Parts: sequence; C-alpha cells; structure tokens
Amino acid sequence: MPAAPTIILTADETMMSKYRGGMFIGFTTCMPQGILPDWLYFRAFAPPVPRRNGRAVLADCGLRIIEAILLENGFSEEEVAVVHPKDLDRMIGEETKIVAIGGHDHLGINPPTSEFVDLVRTGPPYNRVKFLELVRRVSRKNVKVVVGGKGAWQLADPKVMDKLGIDHVHVGEGEISVPRMFKAILRGEEVPRVVRGEDTPVDKIPNIRGAVIHGLVEISRGCGRGCKFCTPGMQKLRHKPVDHILKDVQVNLQAGDHRPILHAEDVLRYGTTKIEPREEKVVELFEKVAALEGVKKIDTSHVALATVYHNPDLVRKVSEIAVCNSKEKIGTQTGIETGSPELLEKYMYGKALPSPPEKWPEIVEQSLGILEDNNWVPACTLMVGLPGETREDVLKTLELMDKLRDSFSLIVPLFFVSMAGSALSKENSFTADKMLPEHWELLGVCLEHDVKIAHKLSRGYEKGSILERFLFRLAVRYLLKSAEKYAKILKRGEPPRDYSETWRYLTPEL
Ligand code: SF4
Repeated sequence: MPAAPTIILTADETMMSKYRGGMFIGFTTCMPQGILPDWLYFRAFAPPVPRRNGRAVLADCGLRIIEAILLENGFSEEEVAVVHPKDLDRMIGEETKIVAIGGHDHLGINPPTSEFVDLVRTGPPYNRVKFLELVRRVSRKNVKVVVGGKGAWQLADPKVMDKLGIDHVHVGEGEISVPRMFKAILRGEEVPRVVRGEDTPVDKIPNIRGAVIHGLVEISRGCGRGCKFCTPGMQKLRHKPVDHILKDVQVNLQAGDHRPILHAEDVLRYGTTKIEPREEKVVELFEKVAALEGVKKIDTSHVALATVYHNPDLVRKVSEIAVCNSKEKIGTQTGIETGSPELLEKYMYGKALPSPPEKWPEIVEQSLGILEDNNWVPACTLMVGLPGETREDVLKTLELMDKLRDSFSLIVPLFFVSMAGSALSKENSFTADKMLPEHWELLGVCLEHDVKIAHKLSRGYEKGSILERFLFRLAVRYLLKSAEKYAKILKRGEPPRDYSETWRYLTPEL
C-alpha cells in the first residue's frame, strides 16, 4: 500500500467541477439551496471533475499553482496530491499532515452569492454549504487544516477559525509564503494563525504541473486601473512571459482541453503596465497560443471595455486569431458597474481611461457593439448600492440599460459587499432591505435581458448522456421560467416579497 500524501490540496465540491464545459454555468454555484433538489443541481450543473487514483485530473488554477510551487520547493509528487472532496477519506492517511482548502468565496458572502441568497431566500448558498461540510469533515481528522485562496480574508479571524477547526489561514499570493509556512508546520514550529503572502515576482511564479478546469491559464496579475472596491485593482500589475504561458497551455492540451481561456483582468493589455495596449505583444501571444497543435479556439477571462472602445483594430485582430477558423463565439467577462459618470469618477476614475469618466456610457455602448461585431459574448457586471449611490445614479444606469437592450451579452447586477469589519456582518454592505424602487426596476430589466440570452446560450451546454442532457434541459427550463416571472414583477419597481427582515442565511451560522 503506497504512503498517503503528506499534503492534500482540495476545494469544496462547487469548485471542483467542469460545469458542463460552461464558464458561465459555474456561476450557479452561487445559487441558494432550495430552488432545485441538491441531487438535480449537482447532476445538471456541477458534476465532479474526472479523477484518477484519488487525484483530480482537473482543478482550480489556484490549487494548481500551489501544487507546482510545493513541487519546486522540494516536495515530491507522492507527497502532494490535489484531491476532490469525494476522495478525501481514502486519500488521507497516517502520513497526511496538512489538508489545505482553496476557494473563492468560502462563506458565500461575496457577490453575486450574497445577492442571490438575499433575493431568492430559499436557503444558504451551495458554495457555503459545501465549504462548511468540507472544513468540518477535515477538522475531525488528525491533520493541520489550512485555508487559502481569494476568499480566505473571510476566515482570517481567530474566532471564526476556532469555530470551524481551522489551524491557519493564508491570505494573498502564496508562491513565496506557502512553501515556507508548510515546511514550518511539518517541522512542528510555531506558525502564525493568519499568514499574509506577498506579491510574487513573475519569475517566481511556477508553471502548472496538472491541468486546470476550462483550460484556464493565468497570463497576468493585477489590473492597474485602480478602482477603489476591487482586489485585483490593489495588486501590482505583472505579466508572465509568452513561453511560460505556452507551457501552461500545453499542460491543459495534454489533458484534452483544446479551448484555452487566457486569464487576466484585461487580456488586451497583456505585456504593458500602461493604459495604452502594446498591440504587438497581445497579437504575438494570441498567435503563438493559436499555433499550438490542438488549439481549437481561445477564450479570455476578462477585458476592459475602455480598452475595447479605444482599440477596435486590436479587438478585430485578436478575434480573427482567437476563433481559429471555428464559428464559435469568444467568451469573456467585463465590468460595466454603473451608467453614472459621477459614481465612476468617485470610485473608478481609471475605468474609462484614456477618456474622462463622462464618456463612460458611450464607451460601454460602443464597446459592447465592437465585441458583438467581432463575435464575442461578454458577461458584464453592474455594481448596485455603492456607498453614496443616489436615485439619479441608478436612473442613469437604467438609461444605459435601455441602450443595451439588444446587445448579445449577459448583464448581472451585483450588490456592493464591504470587506470592512467582520465577514459575519452585513452592516456595511448593500442588501435587499436597502433597495429603492429604481434598484428593483434595474434588477428586473437585467433579468429579462439575461433570460433572453440564456435561452440561446444554454443550448451549447447540452452535453453528456441522454439522461444528463434531459436533466440539464429540465433544470434550465425551470430556472428560466421562474426568472421570467420574477422579472415582470421587478420591472414595475416592486419587490416580489417582503424584504423588511434581514434574511437569516445572508451570513453564515457557524
Ligand atoms: S477595471 Fe476591473 S479589475 Fe481593474 S481595478 Fe477596476 S474593477 Fe478592478
């Protein structure tokens, strides 16, 4: 019997799925329990990633980077394993000393989760339910429990950690601090309960060793536009060299993923720290990725609308390369956030650059047109309830939505979530009980728009056996029908129910 791994890296079940190959379907993990039976939800939207000998064949990008940095720091492949929660019991053995859990929104309090939970009010969100189930299970084992990832700030409170049986929380980038921290734990040394990582120089970021879900490959970190509420906005902007990126794409190709997603906060500004893109750098990257044997199309994780607006030729060039002779659309995510130039100036001055904030509504309208003309489908976010937002600000966003009515895009309003104070308090965040009639109308307009687009998009995700396709279709039809009904009420500027009480599942009961 082989020895059990010393270090196991895992994430809750909602993070360990291919979501039927659909990046947008992954957002359903932010849904509350109680809309669909759990078994139907997981069969239809989030079945487990493929696994081999107890190890996950595909995993989240963050877990893969931590795996790679541990391997570069003296641990062997036998000592480190990335594991789906379903295989934990058989993989944890006497030799296992650390189980590290990654995640993006462990407690289910970030947008869009908090908003879906507050509005729908059927139960706690799937990501929270599955994380709590996992951490409680692991904390009963004779191992050190470490939690990290984008959502780790939510747990960096000794009271929360004690309740959940978490020994250490790691916040921030992990390439430098995680190997140090894990070695100290294994030597039995005193390690702070909360460890804060530092920005990693690009040459210290390792190549991934195992494949990432959706073939995602990180090409840059940070953003450089400096919006006040945004975590990537606070990170230093760095870009990985092309050769490094190509190696990561190759790893995913070998695992059978032929549609890489290049991940950056603004893919079109790859290779520069200035606002103006370096066209030759971006084109070179896309051309070299497209030239790899087996690549069928290139998607992107995010673009900035101001970059699209100011560089339509670059968008055209990149699009021609990215489709790789296929007829498929190019997926991406982007932030509209508001139709109000005043709000943009206050919180997101850099978002419209090199134009001034007053051009923002025009930038949004024109850039979505440019993306559509070039075969892109963006999923856009709107921020609702930023501190100091007025009725007039919301009306300006409604005006903008009117102009976007026919655009082929998903537009998702997100409630502002404050990172100030305890993650267990919603006092400083925006919640349904603070909504104005104009907010409800905005939600209704967006929902109606999204239902129309989701009907078209969902056809592309009908994959798998006859039963799986049937269950997926059934679940989608039910969700979209309910959303249509809901949208009609919201568009009148009315809440669909009484929201005067704070919803008990808005924050976790630990
Ligand atoms: S443009 Fe987007 S990623 Fe960049 S700082 Fe602003 S919100 Fe963050």
